[in-house]
Formats: sequence, structure tokens, C-alpha cells
Amino acid sequence: MAFGNGYDAFQDPELFRSPEEAEFLESARNMFPSLSNEQILNAWRANNSDLERTLDTLLRASDAQEVDSSGHQNANHMSSNSRGSFCTSINAVGSLSQSSHGAHYPGVPIASSSSSSSGEFRIENFVPVQERRRLRTEFFRGFLPDADPDFLREKAEQFGDNEVDICEWLESAMQTRNYPKLLDYLKRKEVEDVLNRYGSMNAQDFLGSFPDPKNYFDNVERTPSKLYSENVLALLKIIFLGVNEERLRFGLQNGRGLLIPSLKSLQDLGIKRGPLPSCSVFFQRDAFDLTFLQEMTYLRLETEIETESGLRKCQKRSAVNEAKKSGTLLECAICCMDDFLVSDMRECVRGHLFCSTCLKRHAEISVAEGKHVSCLHADCSESVALSQLRDLLSPNVFASVLRYVQKTELDNAKLGHLEACPFCGFEMEFEDESLTVFECINPLCRMNTCRKCKRSDHRPLLCYNVEDDNQVKARRILEESLSEGILRQCPKCKREIIKIEGCNAMTCLCGARFCYNCRQIIDRGYAHFDRGRCATWAVADELYKRDLSLAVEQGRKRVRETVGDVKLLHDPTKNLLEDQKRL
Ligand SMILES: [Zn+2]
Ligand SMILES: [Zn+2]
Ligand SMILES: [Zn+2]
Ligand SMILES: [Zn+2]
Ligand SMILES: [Zn+2]
Ligand SMILES: [Zn+2]
Repeated sequence: MAFGNGYDAFQDPELFRSPEEAEFLESARNMFPSLSNEQILNAWRANNSDLERTLDTLLRASDAQEVDSSGHQNANHMSSNSRGSFCTSINAVGSLSQSSHGAHYPGVPIASSSSSSSGEFRIENFVPVQERRRLRTEFFRGFLPDADPDFLREKAEQFGDNEVDICEWLESAMQTRNYPKLLDYLKRKEVEDVLNRYGSMNAQDFLGSFPDPKNYFDNVERTPSKLYSENVLALLKIIFLGVNEERLRFGLQNGRGLLIPSLKSLQDLGIKRGPLPSCSVFFQRDAFDLTFLQEMTYLRLETEIETESGLRKCQKRSAVNEAKKSGTLLECAICCMDDFLVSDMRECVRGHLFCSTCLKRHAEISVAEGKHVSCLHADCSESVALSQLRDLLSPNVFASVLRYVQKTELDNAKLGHLEACPFCGFEMEFEDESLTVFECINPLCRMNTCRKCKRSDHRPLLCYNVEDDNQVKARRILEESLSEGILRQCPKCKREIIKIEGCNAMTCLCGARFCYNCRQIIDRGYAHFDRGRCATWAVADELYKRDLSLAVEQGRKRVRETVGDVKLLHDPTKNLLEDQKRL
């Protein structure tokens, strides 16, 4: 059953499960006059409201109905394009390899019989600008998988729906391969992520990683790296603008090359310091040392941290007073002090209690002696859980405890599958396989990384797979082989045409008709096919499948011969043959 234009879908509220459904039906109904409302809505539901998939299903359904009613397949089988060869081959590779469900990409000419049979269909009319831009960016990524995605997004914005410019640009980009690369983008993004994380930290965040930052950064027993020293000198030059370098170096010497001690020594000399630049500005050009970044962040938050620490002390004092009144203060069996809150106490895995001050001192001694942190009670050798130590120890001491725990657990083969943080190498076991992000608990690192691609956390974007040289070479061979294999040159004007599916009689834009099978110019009508040498459309798909599998086979063979055994990250032939079986 079909509905005329006078039908108002909204008068039938029983039909819809949501306003979105009604809205979709409104726009899709005119496109598919041969389909019923139920058919349209069922397709929408079956495809989980995915617009592209739904349209694809509906296009197929309406094609099938047209074939049924007219008795033979739609004659509109030709695929060619006024831009000539390249755009057409983009269509083929684009619509074949980029989409497993046969959807078409916005902003790029469409070349398959299913879309040409409903002439007015343009995805542009249905997909919001934002989504179109995303789709187009992903489409570009299919052809230039090693390109900087920011750059591709810019291009998608710049071109809008201008198909001619898109083709021209893609053509030259694929030939010259001269565009910003993905690898540089990823490096840049990792740096940005770290800078953003430290740049947006507040006093509470910072105290979470550095329980006693003042002590930690005043300590002159630290050994600075070369990069750290360069960072310190560069920063001192900025905040002591106009002070001669001799004096700066003198201050640096006093502070043993460390940022905060050197800064204090210079201030003690009576030199006034200027404002601190923001991290993102300061590190615009230079690489940074992570310890330096942490120290600089402390400098930025110093006042805030002091206020926060003061506040915490006050709160604690009144909590102790409260507890004293109610008689809930606890005594530490080790130091025999008796004014501890419950929150001051720590325990071993068997539940022996001791105060956090005693545990902290004990842990520091254990680390120095290369021993694991055990219970403080004389007759107990149980260990103390990491969670009991985490907010207590300075980051470097806690990192040592972690290393020790890790080593002994490895030795005892207690842990099954260990994964290492790609940034600091700290290893962790994952019990929950569904977790996608590695949240490093090493306080000196604290990076969040994708467990799959080992890059810094990139949710909600898909993983970035970086191709190596061989993978790029192999992919290009396959791409070439594919377009060669299913490309036909018009015998008259030499324009290149790709056949996606349909009848074997091909009509070129120049008006010439030729046979896909024997490639000869043929007259009007189907006399050529009656002679028995070439078939019309009955076996046209078979022929196309044959060409395609031949192209895939030859491409893969050439890859084996020239590049060798290579595992492709972006395989243009993937799913291709399976897709064809499905068609
Ligand atoms: Zn104690
Ligand atoms: Zn114990
Ligand atoms: Zn780490
Ligand atoms: Zn990833
Ligand atoms: Zn021609
Ligand atoms: Zn022929």
C-alpha cells in the first residue's frame, strides 16, 4: 500500500514510538512513494535509527519494487561523472571500501545504481551540517589514513558540499602525499593532553598526587635531567626578566639547578620576580620535562595549596576536639599517642591498626632498605595494601613501593596478564577486560592511555592507527590494482569509467556506448548481446565480481612480491568480496 501526498502521518499517533520516528517518516515518505509507512518505520527501527543505514535499506527496497512493477531492471545503470576519471574511481573505492553497508558519502558524487534510481535523493538534505562534516572527515580519512585529522576536518569545513573542489584536492593530495601527518598530530596531542591536565589542576587535584608538595619540592637531593635544567633556565629568564644571566646562574648554583630552591635563593638576594607564564604559552616551542611541569604547576598553585592545607588543618583540629568530647579518639600501638581520628589510622591486611605518621616513617625506611612495606606489629608479617599508602607517601617514595610490589609479584608469578603504561612503563594487571583506558597510578606519571593503540586517551574518537612505510606501500598497491581492475576506458574519448553493478552496456558522457565485457563500441539497442558472445545484465554482476576478485588477487600478489608479508592497517580490499556476495 502506498500513501498519497495528502496523508498526514501525524494524525496516526499509534504509528510512532517517538517524535523522532514521526519526523523521519515525514521526510522519508516523499522520497519513497512506493513504500508504505510501516516499511519505512520498520527499516528505521531495524537499523537502530541509523540514518545512513535506513536510507540504504529503503533505497534497496524501493529499487526492488520498481523492478517488480516494470518487469525488468532499471536501465539507469551507468556510472560516470563530468569530472572524468578520478572522481569516478573515488566513488568506486569510496563506496566499496569505506562503507560496509553501502552508504554514500556526502559531498562526493554517487555512483551506484541504487542511488541513481531515485534521482532527487541527496544525503545533504537530511544530515545536519555537523554530522555531514564528521562523515566527510571520516571519508577523507579513508583515502588519506596517514593524514592529520585536524587538517582533514579543516578541509571538510573549507570545501562544504563543493564536489568539484573536493575531487581536485583529493586527487592531488593522494598523488603528492604532501599534507600534515597523523604521527605529528598524535605527538602534538599527547603534549597538549599533558599540558591541559596540569594546566587545569586545582589545589585539591594537586594534593591528591603530592600529599606534601612543599617538602617534596624544597628537597635539594633531587637529580635534574638535562631537559629539566634547560626548562629551569628558560623559565628563570622569563620571570626574572632583565636580570643578567650571571646572577641567574649564581642563583641556580645555590639551588642545585632545581626550580623552587633556585627561585628562593634568587629572591633571598632581593631580586623581585615577575608573573609566571601559563604552561601552554611557556611550552609552545620547547619540549618539557615532566618533573619540571609538576614543579611549575606547584608554583602556580602555591598560594591556593597553602590555603587548602591551612583549611584542612583547621578542619582536622575541630574534628579532633569533637572526637575528644565524644571519646572516639584512637591510640596508636606503635607510638602510643592517643589523639588520632579514625581517618588518621592505617591497617595491615589482617587489621592491625597503627597511625599514619608511624606508617609513613616505616614505609620510607622500608623503601630505603629495599624491603616491602609490612605490618608494624612485631609478630605480624602481613603487608600493607597500596590504598593505605597512596595518600601518605611522597610520589617518588610511592613509586618505589609500586616498583617493589610489581617486582615481587612478577617473581612470584602471581599476576597473570600485565600491561605496561606506554609513558612510564609501570605495569598493571587488568581484571576488567572491558576497560578501554589505562589509568596509570604511578603518581609521577598519571597518564590516561588507550589500551588498544597505546596513545593518550582519545575518547570519544576511534583509535588512530599509524601506518608504517610498508603498510602505506601495500595499501597504495591495492588501491591502484582495484581501480585498474574495475576501470573501463571509453574507446572513443578515453574517459575512464567505473562500473559498480548493473548491465554490461555502458554509456559514456561523450555519447559512446560500449560493452563492459569485450570493451567494443556497440550500437543502440541490445543487438550486440543477442549474438551470444557477451551477455547483458544477467551475468553482469558475475562479471563484475570476477573482475573485482581478480583485481584483489593480483593486488595482494603484487604486495607479497614487492613489499613482502605485511599486516595492513587500512586494507581497501577488506570486506570487498563479501560485500559483493551480499549485493
Ligand atoms: Zn603511631
Ligand atoms: Zn599486622
Ligand atoms: Zn604511567
Ligand atoms: Zn586508541
Ligand atoms: Zn567517451
Ligand atoms: Zn561485448
